[in-house]
Formats: sequence, C-alpha cells, structure tokens
Amino acid sequence: MTTTYEPVIGLEIHVQLLTRTKMFCGCELSFGEPPNTRTCPVCLGLPGALPVANAQAIHFGLMIGLALDSELAPRSIFHRKNYFYPDLPKGYQISQYDEPLCRGGRLADVRIHRVHLEEDAAKLVHVGASGRIHASDASIVDFNRGGTPLAEIVTEPDLHSPEQAGQWLRLLRATLRHLGVSDVNMDEGSLRCDANVSVRPEGSRELGTKTELKNMNSFRFLERGIRAEIARQEGILNEGGRVVQETLHFDPGSGEITSLRSKEQAHDYRYFPEPDLAPVAVSETMLAAARQAMPELPSARAVRLQDSLGLSAESAHLLAFRPELGDYFEQALQSSPDSTPSAGAQAQALANWVTGELAKRLAPEESPADSKVSPEAITVLSQMAAEKQISVGAARQVLDRLVAEGGDPRTLVEQEGLAALDGGDELRQIVRAAIAANADAAQRVRAGNPKATGPIVGYVMRETKGRADGAEVTRLIAELLG
Ligand code: ADP
Ligand code: MG
Ligand code: ZN
Repeated sequence: MTTTYEPVIGLEIHVQLLTRTKMFCGCELSFGEPPNTRTCPVCLGLPGALPVANAQAIHFGLMIGLALDSELAPRSIFHRKNYFYPDLPKGYQISQYDEPLCRGGRLADVRIHRVHLEEDAAKLVHVGASGRIHASDASIVDFNRGGTPLAEIVTEPDLHSPEQAGQWLRLLRATLRHLGVSDVNMDEGSLRCDANVSVRPEGSRELGTKTELKNMNSFRFLERGIRAEIARQEGILNEGGRVVQETLHFDPGSGEITSLRSKEQAHDYRYFPEPDLAPVAVSETMLAAARQAMPELPSARAVRLQDSLGLSAESAHLLAFRPELGDYFEQALQSSPDSTPSAGAQAQALANWVTGELAKRLAPEESPADSKVSPEAITVLSQMAAEKQISVGAARQVLDRLVAEGGDPRTLVEQEGLAALDGGDELRQIVRAAIAANADAAQRVRAGNPKATGPIVGYVMRETKGRADGAEVTRLIAELLG
C-alpha cells in the first residue's frame, strides 16, 4: 500500500531595500559600479567603526509590515549573528533575532511569521575553475553589496504545492514592487527565496521533518526545486527511511539536489544583542509617515476595479496583481474620450484587450508601458471593435502592427482598408457567393445542422480578409438559407 503525502512549504524571502544608502553606514547602494568602490570602515568591518541604523530602511520595513497586516513592534533590537565566511568581514551579520520589527500578519491565504531587517553580505566571485589547486584559482570579494539593507520575510508553513508557492511569491513580489521598497528582481538577486519543504501523510496534522532549499533565483526554479524535493522526500519515506533536516542546493541544470550542510541551530550563531546600536523605537511620527506612504495594495485594487468599474473578478485580479498591466489599463481608461452609459461594458472590453490580446503579444515580464502600443491606441482599438467599426479579426491584425511599429489604429485601419463591411449589400453579395461555392455545407445547414456553416464563414472571412463581423455573417447566412 502506498501512502499519499501532503507537501508542507514555508518560504523565507530576502528583499534588498531600495534605500539611498546602506543599512548601517553612509555608503550609497551599488548598481554595478566597479568592485569595492562603495565601501567605508563600517561596511568593511574595520575595528572601531560604529554602525548607525538607516531610518529609510526602517520606514520601508514598517510599510512592508503594514502591507502584510503585521503587528509593528513599538521597540525592536538588532542582534549579532556570528558566523565565519569571507563575504562577512565583521565575522557576524547584524540582524534581528527575538525582537523583530514586525510579527505575524497575512498575505492572501498565507500567514506571515515575521519580518525583520538585516544587512546583506558582500559578493564572492570565484575565478579559475581548473579543478586542481592552481595559483590562478581564487575567490575574490566585492564589498559593494556588503551592508545593503535587507528585509527578511518569513511565512508560516501554509503552502501545499509548488504551484501555490510560485503563485504566492508572485503576489508578494507584486505587493513589494507596488510599495516601491525594492526592485524585486530575482535575476539580479534583489529578491531571493529559500523554500522549506516537508511532507506528511495525508490527513496527519503533525509536521514532517523539513529541509531548506537555498536561494531559488527564479519562479520556475522555485517550483521545479520544490517539486523535486517533494519527490525525493516521498521516495525516502516510501522506502521506510527518514528525512534528515539539512540545507540543500537545487541545480536547475541537472535537476539534482545536493546537501550544502546539515541544518545549523540558532545556538550555533551565538546571537547576542548588538551593543553598538540603540533599540529601534518606532514613534507615532514614523508610523504616520509609513501609513501616509502606503499606496493602494493589489488586493484593495482588485476590489475597487470590480466594484467601481464592474470588471469581472478574473480581470480585476489579473490587473491588480500585475500592477504594470493595471497601471496601463487605468491610464488607457482615462484616455477614453467619453463616459457613456455603456462605460462598464467598455471598461471590461478594454480590460480584455489589455490582459488578453496585448499581454499575449508581450514578453513574459514585459510591461505594456514599455511597448509601442500607447494606452490611447489600445483604447481606440477596443472602442472601434466594440462599435463594430472593425471586426475582431481585423482588430487583431491592427494590434499586431501596433506592437511591431506603434501608431494610430484609425490610420492603420484606413491604410490597410480594414474597416468593417457593414451589413449592407457588399457583404450580402459575398455571403451569397460563399453559399454558392459551398453547396454541400449549405445543404447541411438547410437540413438543420447549424454547425455546418464553417466553410461558408471561412470563405467570407478569406474574401473579406477578416473585415466582416462574424455575428453579422452568421445572421446573413441564416437569413439567406432561410
Ligand atoms: P528554523 O528555526 O529552522 O529557521 P523556523 O521555525 O524558523 O525554522 O521556520 C523557518 C521556515 O520554515 C518558515 O518559513 C516556516 O514556515 C518553515 N517551516 C517550519 N517547519 C516546517 C515544516 N515542518 N515543513 C515545512 N516548512 C516548515
Ligand atoms: Mg530561519
Ligand atoms: Zn559603508
């Protein structure tokens, strides 16, 4: 008998904060400057240098806490987390331990355990790869990144599939991006995610032993890594073995999972309060500033788009959780010349064009604002299609052109002769010809098989190069075949 297992997943996310300067010194954040040009005695860990906490990082931490519905601690403190590694010149990382800035909270259906602030490590670059020890093999350190402010967000183990984990991380990223507190770029490492994974027999309430997959740097790898780790754990349990708690590396190339180290315990880090920093006391003024800075969050935006514009729940979610689509849509909507009684239907039609046809023509993470299609153009196109000035097929052709070279849909329609054939004589003639050319199909339609119109419609569309309105064609066929 094989047991069915339920996966249990909790995420730990590190986000680089987009402050002007580093977490504990005045060095500006680095964006690809030459190595070791953004350093000072504090972030190089030189003896006697004293850290000062970055007020803007605390402000951003509070905004994240508000967005995640966390409890904001009136007082929190920094600790030293001791470990030895060449990317950590002090021999410890300044982080938060048992008194973090934010506790608890929730985003959608996942509970947040905590959010705390800390500093990033420097960047190690491994050069030479001869496989043998060789004078040219070395690891060199770029301290530009060292000391960059990080917020660490830890969830409760509330996720139960790789896809759910990926979806939730997308929602978190959309939320953080919208707050403007980070670039949230997984390729560049400004958003990094560790996944804690365990499995338990279906129906069991006890948690299984977890492993931790380190530093998944894309959504696809996150999902694939979790999937592979679930399969590995199920294999061990099915053979009567036990999962060992350890830290793992998933290699997206080979799909292999290897052990990095057995899991360290908190006491390995010899945490103690950072004696060089005063506690963070969050004043009313700081709280008010954080509240004031909060934009409308994706979940609230979805509700507004649904309630005030009458969009479908699906469209509202698509637009709200991909803010680049939502912002573009709202800009397009504002360019709409009139707010007629059919404004609701128009908004929905526009939303469909933006989230469907247009999004489909863009690269996966591309923002429509960076495309050649202006918000005004998509609005005009949507209206022309809604008013049947052009057929849907013609509108798609126009959109192809807009994506490729930009421009005004009205001009393109004119240039290409794509204006819809109205239900007048011209179209009627073409439908007549189509019926004559497809006698078999016409016969079957007359015999009571309405689905047989396919070849006739196809003929009309070819003849008119897609300019005819589908519904009008169907109506004319029915009329002429009586
Ligand atoms: P640790 O002390 O090992 O860091 P924590 O209790 O702080 O562990 O949890 C770290 C992360 O692991 C959190 O995201 C949490 O939700 C997740 N987690 C804890 N226990 C489990 C489990 N049994 N299975 C999956 N995830 C877990
Ligand atoms: Mg942890
Ligand atoms: Zn510095």
